[in-house]
Amino acid sequence: MKRSFVREILESIDNETISFAGGLPNEKLFPSKELKKCASKVLKNKEIYQYGLSNGIKELRQKIAKMYCNSGFKTNEENILITTGSQQAMFIISKYFENKSITLEKPSYLGAINIFKLNHIKMKEVDLKKDGIDIKKFEKSFAKTKLAYLIPDFQNPTSTTYSKTKRDEVAKIIKKYDGILIEDSPYSELYFEKKETLISSQIPNNSFHLGSFSKTLSPSLRIGWIRASKELIDSLIIIKESIDLHSSGISQYILNEYLKDDANFEKHTQKIRDDYQDKMEYFCKCLDKYLPTFKYTKPKGGMFIYGSFKKIDTFELVKKAMKEKVLFVPGNQFYTNKEKINNEIRFNYTNSSKKDIKKGIKTISKLI
Ligand code: PMP
Repeated sequence: MKRSFVREILESIDNETISFAGGLPNEKLFPSKELKKCASKVLKNKEIYQYGLSNGIKELRQKIAKMYCNSGFKTNEENILITTGSQQAMFIISKYFENKSITLEKPSYLGAINIFKLNHIKMKEVDLKKDGIDIKKFEKSFAKTKLAYLIPDFQNPTSTTYSKTKRDEVAKIIKKYDGILIEDSPYSELYFEKKETLISSQIPNNSFHLGSFSKTLSPSLRIGWIRASKELIDSLIIIKESIDLHSSGISQYILNEYLKDDANFEKHTQKIRDDYQDKMEYFCKCLDKYLPTFKYTKPKGGMFIYGSFKKIDTFELVKKAMKEKVLFVPGNQFYTNKEKINNEIRFNYTNSSKKDIKKGIKTISKLI
C-alpha cells in the first residue's frame, strides 16, 4: 500500500498555498460559538469522562434514529452504531467482509479504496454514468460479489448524483441477489436542489447506511455512524470493541447537546448549502472563463467539481502547480489502477475564498 496522495499533499500546504485538493469544509462556517456553549455545559458533568458503551451514547443514537424517521425511514437506536467518523465505519464493515469481493464505482473514494486493499477485499470497478452507476454492468458484477459500495449523493470524487430510477434499479438488484449495499453518504445534507432518498430505505435489512457530522458540523469531532439491521449492528459491535472500545464520549456528549435544538442544526446546514452553492457557481464561472478546455458536469450538491481535459497529463500538471503553490487532485488517484487515467481533475471549491479561486484557476491556466 501507498499513502493517500490527498493526505500527503495536504501536508505540503502553507499559508500561501491555494488548495483545491482536500475535501475540507469552509472553516468560517464551523458553529464554534454554539459548540463552545454546549461543551462548557457538558464538561461540568463527571459522567462524560468515564468509559462508555461501544455502540455510542443512547441519547445520540436516538437523535440520529429520529433523523431517519423524519424522512420516513423507520429506525430506532438499536439500528445505530456510532463510529469514529464514517471512515471508521467503512473500516469496521470491511473487516466484517475481509477477503470478499466488492462492486464499486469507477472512480471512487480514495479512502475506501485503501481500506478495501488493507482488508484484502477484491475490487470490481463499474463505470459511472451521468445519472449513476452503469446498471447493466452493475448487475453483472453484483451477481458475483453480492456486496457493493456506492456513494449515490454528490459522489466523491465526481459529484455524480443518482437519479430516482437508478436508485430504484440498484435496490431491485440488491434484493434480487439478496446481497448487501454499503451506502456511503457523508454529503447528503449538502444538496443545492433537493434532498435525495436513500437507497437503503428500500432495502433496510440488506444495507449499511453510513452518515457523518464531518461535513455539516466539524470533521474534528470524528463522529459518524452506521445504520443497519439490529443483527448486523450486533456483529459490527464486536469489531468496534476490538478497535477502540468506543468513540470519544466527550465528542458524543457535546454533539448530543448541540442536537437538542434541531431547528438550529437545520438553520446551520442551510447556511452551508447556500455558501457552497455560491462558491460552486463562482468556481464554474472561473473555469469557463480561464480553463475553457476543461469539461465538467455542474454539481447538484457536495464539495467537488470533477472533469477532464482532452490531452493534458494532470499528474504532471499538479507537480508544476505545486511549485506555484496551487493544489488539486489528479483524477488517476481515484482509480484502483492509477496509471490508466491521466487527464482528469477533482477540484474542491468549499475551502477557498473567491479571490483565491480566481487566482488559483488563472495560475493553472497559465501553466497549461
Ligand atoms: N466517505 C466519503 C465518500 C468521504 O468523502 C469521506 C471524507 N472525505 C469519508 C467517507 C470519511 O469522512 P469522516 O470519517 O470524516 O466521516
